[in-house]
Amino acid sequence: MAPPGLPCSPGPPGLRACRACDRVCPRPQLPGRKPPDIRTASTHTEHMTPTPAMTHTSLKLRPLPTPVSLTTGSVLVIVDAPDSYPCRRCLHDGLVGETMRLVSYDAFLGVSPYTGAGPIFVHENGCEQFERSEQSKELDEQSEGGGVPEQLRRRLLAVRAYDTAHFMVASELVEGSDLEETARQMFASAEVAYLHVHFARAGCFAVRIDPG
Ligand SMILES: [Zn+2]
Repeated sequence: MAPPGLPCSPGPPGLRACRACDRVCPRPQLPGRKPPDIRTASTHTEHMTPTPAMTHTSLKLRPLPTPVSLTTGSVLVIVDAPDSYPCRRCLHDGLVGETMRLVSYDAFLGVSPYTGAGPIFVHENGCEQFERSEQSKELDEQSEGGGVPEQLRRRLLAVRAYDTAHFMVASELVEGSDLEETARQMFASAEVAYLHVHFARAGCFAVRIDPG
């Protein structure tokens, strides 16, 4: 059951239930923050209409925002199929025959109930972290890519928006080709500080996005 001071109450359909009590729990009030009402909090961005300002918001993709440990509990795997082992460091998928490491990783830079580790792949050797310069190059080379790597554009993605206290304030399920537009719509809300993108089918963390 929920701890004292955090009474649980039934929530609207579609909201994720609390693991402890199997009911929707309100978020605790933080000092200086208006208590959010989870019953009315946005879990989607369909109501947002892109404005010219939103359209021009630049995005900064941020792979591996926290250090990744390649030792604790990790395993080596050999890529046996194309487009199946997405490296979160270089944002390219492993090529058949390459060695990659499956590691447990927590991308959160702060502490909140939303933090937690999950599995990701990284190349075992010799890949460089995706950088802004490469992003700019891809912008030039891919007129429809908008700087979003192909690894992300061809997958179904879960995009989760967090505020500065690391609480989720919105979420969307989108095709990767729509990531850029969705991210800009989410950043139109002053409440949104950053996004975590996950590969929707497997649920693994893919990349963080900050306003550019
Ligand atoms: Zn890599």
